[in-house]
Amino acid sequence: MTGTRAPLRGMTYDETAAALADLGEKPFRAAQVFDWVHAKRVTDFDSMTNLPKTLRAHLAETHTIAVPEILRTERSKADGTAKYLFRLSDGECIESVCMPYRFGNTVCVSSQAGCAMGCAFCASCADGLKRNLTADEMLSQVYALADAEEGNVTHVVVMGMGEPLQNTDNLIRFVTILSDERGMHLGRRHITVSTCGIVPQIARIAREIPQINLAVSLHAATQEKRETIMPVARMYPLPELMDACAAYGRQTGRQVTFEYALIRGVNDSDEDAANLAALLPDISRTVNLIPVNPVRGNGFTGPERTDVLKFKKNLEKMGIHVTIRRELGRDINGACGQLVRRHREDFFAEDLFGNRHR
Ligand code: SAH
Repeated sequence: MTGTRAPLRGMTYDETAAALADLGEKPFRAAQVFDWVHAKRVTDFDSMTNLPKTLRAHLAETHTIAVPEILRTERSKADGTAKYLFRLSDGECIESVCMPYRFGNTVCVSSQAGCAMGCAFCASCADGLKRNLTADEMLSQVYALADAEEGNVTHVVVMGMGEPLQNTDNLIRFVTILSDERGMHLGRRHITVSTCGIVPQIARIAREIPQINLAVSLHAATQEKRETIMPVARMYPLPELMDACAAYGRQTGRQVTFEYALIRGVNDSDEDAANLAALLPDISRTVNLIPVNPVRGNGFTGPERTDVLKFKKNLEKMGIHVTIRRELGRDINGACGQLVRRHREDFFAEDLFGNRHR
């Protein structure tokens, strides 16, 4: 046993096949192993009953199937949304959310432990960025929730903690494995990635995984205002971001969805709506409004419902397609902007079944 066994879950089909070839195995073994790991999602080699015992032993010597520990599960009484707290192999903690919709479950995945972006309205950056998550750790969130929750996972959104386009290599690997028809086979059209606007990486998404849905967190329609709530705007100014979004649309033939967290008294005026409508490129005129979720200590609050609807109407009059995001999981701090790396005391929390975890 060595300390450098490769995590099987993080390997694409081709890499799995190459690893098996290295062990002297015939090509059909790759299909069997990939099926066990990603379609049947077993977590130990002895369950791979159609493999010879010697191969199972070889795999166990050279590879791991690391499964993050579930430290805690909380479920919203209001809407059934479930939030999971995981501990990774190095002790880092991350959160994932499962939202039940009529058509199936949407799983919200974290892409980093912590976040470096520093958006003023979001809790995820409170302790800074610890590290990127591996593809294997991102997949493990989906697999764990797919197995633990009732119903099928029909959609995955990379909208949990972290900035996915600061971790693009692992993000692309994650999407490649998740959508592989020989594995979990989640259609790329059912995967959404949200970014705060890491401009150079948007072109890379257009090139390498153009079939996914891209959402861009705008939250302000002028450079000046955006800088005050999103430090990333200083690095990647709004005109450059909008150019990148327009280019993305031309290259992929697909729209970007713009997310706009409505914050009372900050970005919810008639003028803000007019600026926003004027800013959007012809090719992408869809806005997803998110009444801002409360985050302890930042003082931001969402507008009254009537003001949200007014902002929506304003935009619609200017030809924008507007949706309002449902505020799922607020009562368990599982809504947008509320996910965090938990602190030590949470290692001693109780799960849904009353078991105490360390
Ligand atoms: N880093 C990525 C993904 C993070 S979160 C990004 O910035 O897009 C997904 C969405 O929730 C983003 O649009 C984010 O800006 C938004 N968000 C963050 N904090 C929020 C809050 N308190 N209320 C509502 N939305 C919030």
